Amino acid sequence: MTQTARRDVDPSTGEAAPPAFESLDPRTGEVVGRHPIHDEADVAAVVREARQAQTAWAELGFAARKQHLDAWRRMLARRLDEIAGLVCAETGKPLDDAKLELVLVIDHLHWAAANAEKVLKRRKVPAGFLMANQAATVEYLPLGVVGVIGPWNYPVFTPMGSLAYALAAGNAVVFKPSELTPGVGAWLARSFAEAVPDHPVLHVVTGYGETGAALCTSGVDKVAFTGSTATGKRVMASCAQSLTPVLVECGGKDALIVDVDADLPAAAEAAVWGAMSNAGQTCIGVERVYVVDAVADRFLELVTERARKLRPGGEPNAHLGPITMASQVDVIRGHIDDALRGGGRAVVGGEHSVRPPFVEPVVLTDVAADSEAITEETFGPTIVVQRVRDADEGVAQANSSRYGLGGTVFSRSRGLELARRLRSGMVSVNSVISFAAVPALPFGGVGDSGFGRIHGADGLREFTRSQAVTRTRFAMPLNPMSFGRSKGTVRRLVRLVRLMRGR
Ligand code: NAD
Repeated sequence: MTQTARRDVDPSTGEAAPPAFESLDPRTGEVVGRHPIHDEADVAAVVREARQAQTAWAELGFAARKQHLDAWRRMLARRLDEIAGLVCAETGKPLDDAKLELVLVIDHLHWAAANAEKVLKRRKVPAGFLMANQAATVEYLPLGVVGVIGPWNYPVFTPMGSLAYALAAGNAVVFKPSELTPGVGAWLARSFAEAVPDHPVLHVVTGYGETGAALCTSGVDKVAFTGSTATGKRVMASCAQSLTPVLVECGGKDALIVDVDADLPAAAEAAVWGAMSNAGQTCIGVERVYVVDAVADRFLELVTERARKLRPGGEPNAHLGPITMASQVDVIRGHIDDALRGGGRAVVGGEHSVRPPFVEPVVLTDVAADSEAITEETFGPTIVVQRVRDADEGVAQANSSRYGLGGTVFSRSRGLELARRLRSGMVSVNSVISFAAVPALPFGGVGDSGFGRIHGADGLREFTRSQAVTRTRFAMPLNPMSFGRSKGTVRRLVRLVRLMRGR
């Protein structure tokens, strides 16, 4: 949580210090830290610094960059408790959830550093029969400076999907963390500077949306944005002015399908964890469940049993923490109200479950298909369980959303088949959210969930430009790309292509 900016006066000079803002603990309202509000000029200066450092970083090559990134990774592992404490303070999430986030971060950083060379280095490709005299190669070169704009819900894991992969590819990064979690962003940049003192290629700028907007127009070579769909559209529009490429990771309304032969206790456990962990503030959280009618009663019983046991609170061992962004409480309340007004039933909790800053688990069922609880991202510990005739209808309902981020299928016999038919970027079969923890798998969505990919080989390439090179090995007897070509050259080539490719 944040508090509005105020100008301080520097007592030694009597001059106004740069405006600053405070990050607050959403559980208590206590001040966690104070950070500058960087304006356009500040952002431009930081981007210049990053650009200066980037050349040497790119020239280091993969092996030396890996050593530096490994040093940073080891430092994160050593100081895991310290950064987890800060994540906890700025988001309010339970301590073990913050630690789990960091475990994933460390594994991703390891993967990006270890695989960058294999994925990006120059490699030969076949030159084809028309260009048989050429040696053809492709290499993935860094873009330069990448601007990363992040959300607050997973304030380390989410940006690290861009930071680790962009840095491993040889870019410098300027990171603008959410105004709710600026301390976490600043900590990451400080720890990088300590671990890699000779290469200042990770910088942080702090502030509100305006600081992010300034990063979009600062001349960075790419913007990697993670946040809401509405802001993603603004970022893309702003980047369009300078044709700055963008990667847009936005919201979701992920569905879980429970087939008739599913392991019901496992599916219920996954639904409740997927929907309620991190108080439902997960882009790939489960927001909708489509369960086959024949097993729906039993499944709802199992979900109800589990959800009723969950306790939100501020203490480190609570099951779920508060709603980090105060304004989201009204959205969550609105979705519950809308579902109930439209004829839906609450089998766990209800309107009374909203007790800011906490929301107790809410399980809704028989909700109208056009209710906001079905169509819009709720981002709270709520879940809508809908009955469907069969898993095929479940797929159709799941795909009726304008979002398409992740998805989950529980089925013993049709898991992969159903997964493949979901219009989403990622799917877990017989578990939930697992794809995010596999560093080799690309992560990203379709539709209103955005485009572009972080993680995996695709995530490394996302922060590069491919460069295609051909090198002439010997002169061809037929050279059609010369004013000196003979009259018969193209005729012979046409004959050749008909023979080779015309059948
Ligand atoms: P948000 O869109 O409010 O803010 C995201 C970031 O954008 C913040 O740093 C903010 O300061 C900045 N920003 C705001 N206005 C800007 C502008 N005009 N130009 C540039 N930057 C600007 O989102 P949030 O509330 O921080 O995060 C929650 C959202 O993020 C949810 O919708 C969630 O689903 C989504 N999310 C998506 C993923 C994913 O990988 N797809 C991961 C985590 C969160």
